Amino acid sequence: MSQLASTTHFAPRIIHGAGSISNLKAACEAIQATSLFVMISERGKKSLAKTFEHLAANGISLHYFTAFQSEPTTGHLQDALVSFERSKDDGILAIGGGTALDLGKALSVLAANKGLTLRDIPQQGPLNKIPLIAMPTTAGTGSEVTKVTVITETKQKRKLNPGHPSLIPDVVVLDPELTLSMSPKITAETGLDALAHAIEAYVSTRATPISDVFALEAIRAIGGSIRTAYREPQNLQARDDMLRGSMFAGLAFSNSSTNLAHATARPLGTRFSLPHGLSVALMHPYVIAFGKEAAHERYTAIADALGAKSVLYFIEELNALFELKEEARKRLDLDELIRSIPLLVEDALSGNGIETNRKIPTRQDITDIYKNLVTDLMGE
Ligand SMILES: [Zn+2]
Repeated sequence: MSQLASTTHFAPRIIHGAGSISNLKAACEAIQATSLFVMISERGKKSLAKTFEHLAANGISLHYFTAFQSEPTTGHLQDALVSFERSKDDGILAIGGGTALDLGKALSVLAANKGLTLRDIPQQGPLNKIPLIAMPTTAGTGSEVTKVTVITETKQKRKLNPGHPSLIPDVVVLDPELTLSMSPKITAETGLDALAHAIEAYVSTRATPISDVFALEAIRAIGGSIRTAYREPQNLQARDDMLRGSMFAGLAFSNSSTNLAHATARPLGTRFSLPHGLSVALMHPYVIAFGKEAAHERYTAIADALGAKSVLYFIEELNALFELKEEARKRLDLDELIRSIPLLVEDALSGNGIETNRKIPTRQDITDIYKNLVTDLMGE
């Protein structure tokens, strides 16, 4: 392990536990906000109507922004900026999965820095921002505590993922009750994504003794509860383990990195409109098989934390239980996938997460990884 100096970024304030949503007024006070720009889906807005009524009755004025769908794009962000300009709120509340949270994070920085673009964010020093409260309703992205926002460029269909400490939300509200309504399918895909964040952070060449603590705790929490959360959606303890685990995984990879599973999954998800969690979970086994010898000790420690024979076996078993290949076959045109491999490889090579692998993949290695996916999808 490298003994080089490293800097760790945390979220400044985390309110955690069942029923935490009732502390939103306190969260507003913490960021001195009296007027919130609420980024939430239409459905979420309806289901939390009572919470919003309560906030409004307590003197917080609310403006809603609901014009976004599954994956966040620069188009959504532009619309949010225009809308925010009009509402002139002094705080942002992002509630939802990664989409709402990533849009909220990007908005909180861009709205306070006229003319700044997503691409320019990483090169900046300390940035002004509109204070942001983040409340995840899925246990997957860990976006509530990371310094990265993932936004798809609408025209070029490429994912941008700028990182900057100012993108970290100022208050995080982690309430497992908000995740109870996740379907088993979403629970599985987002949970496997979170597990991949922790595993990739732990095997990354940028792992630090501090990110390792978060990664292993995430692996234990998610590995121990993902099956229960899938089978028993109303199990609050399992939901809390998943949400806490997802947050720890976020702290792990935000301070270390994700690697090849994310580097190969991003283009697959973008080109074929697959959910992020599904594409990561599909690629992860091939990436583990590729790198497991180069990071043997690290994978052994992960297997111990999972209480499993091997990490590869554990992940493959979950993918089979959650029927991910069946789902992929439904959503992917295999002929088109085969034709797209050179493009996917180019995209993967130009994104993040290649150079932080214990074993740096060549163009051919990445081609083979995609071919392995195709073979498996055709095989059964
Ligand atoms: Zn991910």
